[in-house]
Amino acid sequence: MKIICVGRNYEAHAKELNNKVEVSPVIFLKPETALIPNKQPFFYPSFSQDVHFETELVVKICKLGKHIEEKFAHRYYKEISVGIDFTARDVQSTLKAKGLPWELAKGFDGSAPLGKFIELSSLNKPIQDLNFRMKLNGVEKQEGNTSQMIFSVNQIIAFVSTYFTLKIGDLIFTGTPAGVGPVQPGDHLEAWLEDEKLLSVKVK
Ligand code: MG
Repeated sequence: MKIICVGRNYEAHAKELNNKVEVSPVIFLKPETALIPNKQPFFYPSFSQDVHFETELVVKICKLGKHIEEKFAHRYYKEISVGIDFTARDVQSTLKAKGLPWELAKGFDGSAPLGKFIELSSLNKPIQDLNFRMKLNGVEKQEGNTSQMIFSVNQIIAFVSTYFTLKIGDLIFTGTPAGVGPVQPGDHLEAWLEDEKLLSVKVK
């Protein structure tokens, strides 16, 4: 399986990192070894002094497809969750300054903690009107609504499936709202989708 991530998909977050708002989605991948199942710890990596959390809606692909039209994209997912796109911001800044790919800053071991998946249909709300939030040590740090995405989930699926065949079990991290910030060993992150707490991860 693969983990497809969208960068700069919320205008307020693009601006907080001094990035322009994009005309097509910014896509990068994380390897499978980036995943952390819910409630497993994240081990702070030795190569960074500035790992940031990015709280994101995660969509699980349930059907094989390529060249998926936006109008049919909703048929390719049923389950969603929240995840953290951990980013070694210092490593990313160095790579960005050199015009290099971001993988070392984004795809390292444990950089993708995943919450428990739930059926989208159980929420009785459209995928582009879902609230999610993250608390760090009990203090709310990020909150967003999927209506604020620049590129919708269906647009993302249409775009990425032009380049990559989507397979059952592939995950899409759909971008973070504003409010990203650093974590330290000892921190506890918890994230909610609507009223349900789906993710808990401790930093070691
Ligand atoms: Mg992100």
